Amino acid sequence: MDCIFCKIISGEIPTKILKETSDSISFLDAFPLSKGHVLVIPKKHHQKIQDMNEKENSDLFSLVHTMISKVDSITGSTLLAVHNGKDAGQEVPHVHVHLVPRSKDDSAGAIHSMFDDSFKLSDSEIDELYTKLKI
Ligand code: AMP
Ligand code: ZN
Repeated sequence: MDCIFCKIISGEIPTKILKETSDSISFLDAFPLSKGHVLVIPKKHHQKIQDMNEKENSDLFSLVHTMISKVDSITGSTLLAVHNGKDAGQEVPHVHVHLVPRSKDDSAGAIHSMFDDSFKLSDSEIDELYTKLKI
């Protein structure tokens, strides 16, 4: 498979690995959005979070938990992000969690600044979504 992250895992593409666990690795993003931008990925190729099994999922988020205190010490505030699918902005189709140190003077904003704020739902649409998503 022609996947950059699978090539990082196989050692075909060199990277600065920070920590490795049984099912996951963490490394420095090659095109960082800020100083200390880190990625955490599963070793096995999956495009979306829901494609991972429970063990892979808990190993991945346990490594996120381990790395966040390190990364958060850089500025004291960190954005965690997952683009879960192409239309959500996922460019590399292999699950990855971004840990991006943020600071008050950076160019990014709150999550609502990513979207057009004219989007509104009617009460019936909210009820419909609630029924669809409730477990
Ligand atoms: P996304 O746009 O959410 O799919 O994020 C993909 C991330 O992978 C981006 O932040 C890229 O900078 C990063 N990236 C791409 N190629 C490499 C590489 N060879 N080593 C490390 N990070 C990479
Ligand atoms: Zn892959």
